[in-house]
Amino acid sequence: MNYNKIEKVKIIGGSYSGLITAISLSKLNIKSHIIEKNDISKMHQNDVRGLALNANTVKYLDNLGLWTDISEYAGAIEQIRVVDSDSPLFLHFDNELVDNEILGYIVSADKLFKVLYNHAKIDGNIVITDCATQSITNDSDLLIGCDGKNSIVRKMALIDIKQYNYKQTAMVFNIEHENNHNNIALEKFTSSGPFAVLPLKNGFSSSIVWTEKANLAKTYLSMSDDLFIEHLQSKIGDYLGKVKISGKILSHPLSLSYVEKYYKDNMVLVGNAAHNIHPISGQGLNMAILDIKLLSELIVDVFNINDLLQQYENKRLADNYRMICFTHNLNNLFISNSKVITNARRVGLGIVNQLPSFKKYFMQYAMGKR
Ligand SMILES: Cc1cc2nc3c(=O)[nH]c(=O)nc-3n(C[C@H](O)[C@H](O)[C@H](O)COP(=O)(O)OP(=O)(O)OC[C@H]3O[C@@H](n4cnc5c(N)ncnc54)[C@H](O)[C@@H]3O)c2cc1C
Repeated sequence: MNYNKIEKVKIIGGSYSGLITAISLSKLNIKSHIIEKNDISKMHQNDVRGLALNANTVKYLDNLGLWTDISEYAGAIEQIRVVDSDSPLFLHFDNELVDNEILGYIVSADKLFKVLYNHAKIDGNIVITDCATQSITNDSDLLIGCDGKNSIVRKMALIDIKQYNYKQTAMVFNIEHENNHNNIALEKFTSSGPFAVLPLKNGFSSSIVWTEKANLAKTYLSMSDDLFIEHLQSKIGDYLGKVKISGKILSHPLSLSYVEKYYKDNMVLVGNAAHNIHPISGQGLNMAILDIKLLSELIVDVFNINDLLQQYENKRLADNYRMICFTHNLNNLFISNSKVITNARRVGLGIVNQLPSFKKYFMQYAMGKR
């Protein structure tokens, strides 16, 4: 069958979602034209984030022939320790409960982008126009908005957006440490926001996502290096030995934005253009991958474009909404100052830690298997 008669695809935005969408369509022999407003060869060059990719994402990237190159920069997560501030009660996830499967990988954002770009730029089915200044025209069979939270495609389609400002800032940087991380990720929840230590490929380096109330983050960022390290070390504790910061500290103001309509006519939204969520559980890009996977499957299976996009919306809207609620409520649960909630939360962590079947279910959810 002639794939849905979709022969001419235009993708707005050449970041993670845009490149992966184009590569995915190329595997179906569908040509696409990516339009990116920035200089793509320089994008994400200084992006020091360690992105958590779940098992589902890894499998899809592998099917697209990308994982072998990405895996060179991927640190495996075998255990996750969840701690509530300085409470002695904790929740420990060990991959022994899921037949020693890797729970996820942490990949340096700059390296991930480079691999995607290197594949896309030599793909005969993909044309990339970057540093684009011309206005976007809808002259293709399918116009895909991979253009992030301020999506121009969303605006062209007159789709409303819901927004929430967390008034929190994520400080992101990498550290080197004396002790091997042994593939353990630490997620510490505090009343200011979550603090994550994510294991990188080299056993003696990790990626930090340190979220604070916006005004507190400002104070931390204006401190001397020595004082900042002192606070950092006390947050991490001593399991990694002495730590030092390698490279820059980047800060990301955090907000939530999402839509309740994913398409109009031949215009459709993918990735952050449809859902830009709190990074508390590292799921934003994993959600985008599920969008791309489904859209690609439907392009093969569904003949009529309206049916195709309606099916895409039905499935992804519900699925993404669940994750939006989960991350939003998780953040609110842990920043709550209420004594009752704090006590219930801490005892809850301790109780759940004794329930292997619940922990197994949760691990499978985080791995993208549920
Ligand atoms: C601190 C932090 C940590 C995170 N950690 C994780 C994690 O561990 N795991 C995970 O899965 N996710 C994580 N995320 C989320 C992840 O970064 C996003 O989900 C991902 O970047 C979305 O990619 P995207 O391509 O959809 O959008 P974006 O990365 O926002 O890209 C949009 C692109 O569109 C381009 N564009 C915009 N307007 C136009 C226009 N008019 N014309 C042409 N181009 C245009 C922009 O220049 C940009 O390149 C994290 C996010 C943050 C902030």
